[in-house]
Amino acid sequence: MNILLLALVLILIIMLTVIFSFSKNKNQELSIGIYVLGTLVQLKAYGKKSNIALQQAEEKLKEIDDKMSVFKDDSEISNINRNAGQGGQTVSSDTYFVIKEAIKYCKLCKGTFDITIRPIVAIWGIGKDKARIPNKSEIEQALKLVNYNDIVLEDDIRWIGLKHKQQQLDVGGIAKGYAADEVKNIFVKNNIKSAMINLGGNIFVLGKKKDGSNWKVGIQNPLGAREEFIGTIELSNKSVVTSGGYERYSVLGGKKLQHIIDPRNGYPSESDVISVTIISDLSIEGDGLSTGMYILGVKEGMKVLKELKGVEAIFITSNKEVYITDGIRDKFKVCNEEFKLNGSEINYEEEDKKDTNI
Ligand code: ADP
Ligand code: MG
Repeated sequence: MNILLLALVLILIIMLTVIFSFSKNKNQELSIGIYVLGTLVQLKAYGKKSNIALQQAEEKLKEIDDKMSVFKDDSEISNINRNAGQGGQTVSSDTYFVIKEAIKYCKLCKGTFDITIRPIVAIWGIGKDKARIPNKSEIEQALKLVNYNDIVLEDDIRWIGLKHKQQQLDVGGIAKGYAADEVKNIFVKNNIKSAMINLGGNIFVLGKKKDGSNWKVGIQNPLGAREEFIGTIELSNKSVVTSGGYERYSVLGGKKLQHIIDPRNGYPSESDVISVTIISDLSIEGDGLSTGMYILGVKEGMKVLKELKGVEAIFITSNKEVYITDGIRDKFKVCNEEFKLNGSEINYEEEDKKDTNI
């Protein structure tokens, strides 16, 4: 009798262990929404280790924010800014990498993207309560400080300094791209096969959707309500980064002024472009390029992009024209009849609007 009972208990224990390990090894789709890097971040991951992958991703995002935010007094970027003109400091490999990459994009964008833009961004304060139109001489003074060539780097000791007093770095136009790439790497390491990373509009789609189809990413209508799309693009394993003036802006002197500042004159960008989306393998590349492309406009921007491999773009102009690079002609579809693809007639594809993922 006792032996029978013991055998039953043993069987029960074995069964429970099997059930437990089975459930532990099951693919799970989990998602989180957090506020970090000054924006709403939404992460969705599908895999056996989705839980741990999301935890690690959240930690990494907070770490990047702590190191690179200009709004945190003890961030590495704030320390560099405080020491401007008097020295510099050794930084983490994260920050060093972002600055080095950023300088590459400053050059590619012919100085329209410039990570020493902070003195100008600060006097405008666009998107903040204290936003105001600075006077001409203030702008001239601040502009003298903007020059990415004044960033001094020492590779072997990861040392960064700024040549002149009051110069200030601002990696707000590129840090989210780096962060998206880091989250993607964490997901890959944890064997996540399918994921959607959305850092306030900086999107990375990993693998395919659970049903095996490509992700369908919606391109925001810059003149419409949030999540109203002008078109969709089908992708897998790509970064989709959009720079637009519609998310962060201030109305000053009766004008809608947006947060991307043209370093050539110190005023909010007034090019013909109201939104630029860059599709690339690396999100840091998409983020670094999108801000500069926004300022350069369609013609100049397309010229720069022609020289780059594996980078595609969607430009939307204020007169509702959509310009795209050749590599995405079969993947991108306009779904709003007000917008014209390259100025020509387009197909109105109502169907595409229905099952858009992002
Ligand atoms: P968002 O951060 O809204 O996604 P962007 O990637 O285009 O958009 O970056 C805009 C941010 O970059 C601004 O908030 C500001 O901090 C900074 N910035 C503004 N103008 C420039 C510029 N010309 N070059 C580099 N950074 C800029
Ligand atoms: Mg950017």
